[in-house]
Amino acid sequence: MADAIIIGAGYAGMSAAALLAHSGRKVIVLEAAGTIGGRAYAYRNEKGYLWEYGAHSHRLAHKGIANEVFKRLGEEIDFLPEAKDAKLIFQEKLWERPEGSAGFLKTPMLSLRARLTLLVLLIKIKKANPIEWYDKTLLDFYKTSFQNPEVEAFLPFLGMTVMCPAPDKVSAGEVIAFLQRALKAGVGVGEPRSGSAQIFSRLEKHIEKSGEIHLQEKAQKIIIENGRAVGVETDRVKYSAPNIIFAARLPLVLDLMDNLLLPKDLVDYAKNIENSSGLTIDFITDMPVTNIRSSLLGVDVPIWARFQSNADDSFTPPGKYLSTWGIMLPWHFNGDEKTVEQTEKRLKSTISAIFPDFMSKVVAERKTVVPVMNGNVLTPAQSKPYRPDIECSTIKGLYFIGDTVKGDGCSGDISFSSALIAADRILGSRMGKSNV
Ligand SMILES: Cc1cc2nc3c(=O)[nH]c(=O)nc-3n(C[C@H](O)[C@H](O)[C@H](O)COP(=O)(O)OP(=O)(O)OC[C@H]3O[C@@H](n4cnc5c(N)ncnc54)[C@H](O)[C@@H]3O)c2cc1C
Repeated sequence: MADAIIIGAGYAGMSAAALLAHSGRKVIVLEAAGTIGGRAYAYRNEKGYLWEYGAHSHRLAHKGIANEVFKRLGEEIDFLPEAKDAKLIFQEKLWERPEGSAGFLKTPMLSLRARLTLLVLLIKIKKANPIEWYDKTLLDFYKTSFQNPEVEAFLPFLGMTVMCPAPDKVSAGEVIAFLQRALKAGVGVGEPRSGSAQIFSRLEKHIEKSGEIHLQEKAQKIIIENGRAVGVETDRVKYSAPNIIFAARLPLVLDLMDNLLLPKDLVDYAKNIENSSGLTIDFITDMPVTNIRSSLLGVDVPIWARFQSNADDSFTPPGKYLSTWGIMLPWHFNGDEKTVEQTEKRLKSTISAIFPDFMSKVVAERKTVVPVMNGNVLTPAQSKPYRPDIECSTIKGLYFIGDTVKGDGCSGDISFSSALIAADRILGSRMGKSNV
């Protein structure tokens, strides 16, 4: 019998399994797909390109939540040296990304009056209590004290830090909580050497010490007896364990058990999750298109980009260069091809406005339409206080982790943070207190 069965091998499931295995617990990870990684899947193809399912960075680098998991495993993520050359695109121009409050005061992107207003806004953000603002949008927060069209046009950048650029949709509490941590940490994002491939191969090594990963084995039922989770049934076999960690997209749990046994607020939340999608394009060129080593974010057009091979030559075979560009698809995108086409055009015209020769240098491109955020679009209703608890309140031994539950941070950070909390609760050592 295993100590824990983990359903799903993304950031969350792999982290929880590695933390438990590191403490000598026997774990079984069940993964429906043929590979580990989930939404952060990364693989090297036969031509030597390291493809990621989107380019993944980790907020606050060595001071961030992903690295917290590795510290508990007795090691650290191998991040590339910080490049300190991050850029912003604002009104079709490229700008240095301001660093800290002083950077915002100096940026030539805005008039002096707007810079001063922005500085006051940042001071207000620094002093605010996030708990009082989870329920309100960033626009609500801004409008309580400010009226400056230039600063208002800049707000999407603040929302973009938690991947929800719409100021009228993103929870002010989430933006405040993140910016407070970022301003205090004084570091930007960390790019792991070899991307997510590094993260997963290292987690896998820990799991192998006292556990197994079963690929292409889909969990079909969580077995509950007398108010306790006692095992999982797959298409092949029945496994028993006193702890079951559900680490797949939250709505999928509804197919695996009697919903009446679950807390009502979890069922309601899972049924009403608001997704957001993005279009990412990997571009291969025969020469570098820029010498930027770090990343680029759009302020007025919701885009992001990384130039991986400028900083890490393990991404491409010799003589080839990779950059990955992403753009948010419109809110409530329903898979419509025409919208994808229009969004692709918008992305490419933004790129061409900044780097006029870029498109002519492209020798290959790979396009992916992805659910960037699955329920972790940090709207007020999906902000931390409203996301479901990690430990199930109605069934003993059942845990929910991933980017749709009550972890800290945003995007992948929620997956890492919830994995830490679940592992702590199971190990009992820290009684569920996360130090992230
Ligand atoms: C293009 C893109 C770029 C992104 N960039 C960043 C970034 O830079 N930084 C960041 O922090 N986040 C980023 N994110 C978000 C991040 O990828 C996700 O938050 C994170 O990967 C979610 O991990 P997870 O383990 O919670 O879930 P998932 O990755 O979705 O893993 C769940 C796993 O469960 C498996 N599964 C489902 N059902 C079953 C079943 N019945 N039985 C067994 N297995 C099952 C699935 O196959 C999957 O592998 C990005 C996302 C995308 C798409």
